[in-house]
Amino acid sequence: MNNKIIKVGIIIPVFNECDNLKPLFQELNKHLVNYTWQLWLVDDGSTDGSDTVLDKLSAENVNVNVLHFSRNFGHMAALAAGIDHASGNVIIMMDADLQHPPALIPKMIEKWKEGYDIVQCIREDNEHISLFKKMTSFLFYSTFKMLTGMQLEPNAMDFRLLDSQVVAALKNFEERSRFFRGLVWWAGYSRCLLRFQVDKRLHGESKYTFSKMIKFAINGIVSFSAAPLRLIFVTGMLLMIGVVIYSLYGLCMFFFTNRTQPGWLSLLLVTMFFSSVQLVSLGIIGHYMATMYDELKKRPLYLLKKRRDVYYSE
Ligand code: UDP
Ligand code: MG
Repeated sequence: MNNKIIKVGIIIPVFNECDNLKPLFQELNKHLVNYTWQLWLVDDGSTDGSDTVLDKLSAENVNVNVLHFSRNFGHMAALAAGIDHASGNVIIMMDADLQHPPALIPKMIEKWKEGYDIVQCIREDNEHISLFKKMTSFLFYSTFKMLTGMQLEPNAMDFRLLDSQVVAALKNFEERSRFFRGLVWWAGYSRCLLRFQVDKRLHGESKYTFSKMIKFAINGIVSFSAAPLRLIFVTGMLLMIGVVIYSLYGLCMFFFTNRTQPGWLSLLLVTMFFSSVQLVSLGIIGHYMATMYDELKKRPLYLLKKRRDVYYSE
């Protein structure tokens, strides 16, 4: 198949990546000369001047489209906006910081030509990944598997190629919580994995703060599993069995020996223990309720402030 007839759409979320944008575009140009490609840059409420650089890139290159969010809605919302607007026979999602090498794109397209609908890139751990990132990533993937039963590929990045029919399927998802790693796994289709050496972030710091990472992980689990709710029931049952056994023991001591169970400290500890279990349980239930509340409101995932794209004129 002649590569020029394949339309490649590339979605890149941008949040304060001002210094990375030009080198990124140059790299893409270098590796995609043989393809017909369109770029969809989603400005997720940048405040560092990325918006001006993006508009300039778009004004100078007909294949560069830009969507500006009205504020920061998050990485997943930016990917969702890309999915809603981009077009092509294949769609590729990648980061703006050059950690996902554009040099891998021709290989991804070759895999698609072999018949795969999804080409998922997997990070090889190397010195550019901090020990903290490796540990939190391991913890997340093992907890996710335990609670959801879904065997997500560890170290799967938001660097993947999707066939247009997978993109059409993803467009129909109405849920607000978009955890793309899980959604793409859930969707099925034929998939292959491509391992790559992750590069160092070219400029700037990671935009995933610790609190954003925790929120991302909890949302991922909550949107794919009700297991934490069942776990509350199991914990309650186990504690109840324990309490019954302990009460029987206490009663036997009272009736058959002349000793009674001593101490207000044990009473205090047991009360405190049960109260904390109840509070944690309420917290878990509360989180599910908050997620449902959020879904019920059906607010848009993102709001566009401005757009510059080939199919749209103001
Ligand atoms: N990003 C975004 N909105 C956010 C956070 C990040 O659009 O609120 C973008 C960011 O510009 C980058 C990608 O998502 O293109 C991944 O972010 P980052 O590289 O900071 O994450 P890390 O690689 O450290 O996990
Ligand atoms: Mg990065």
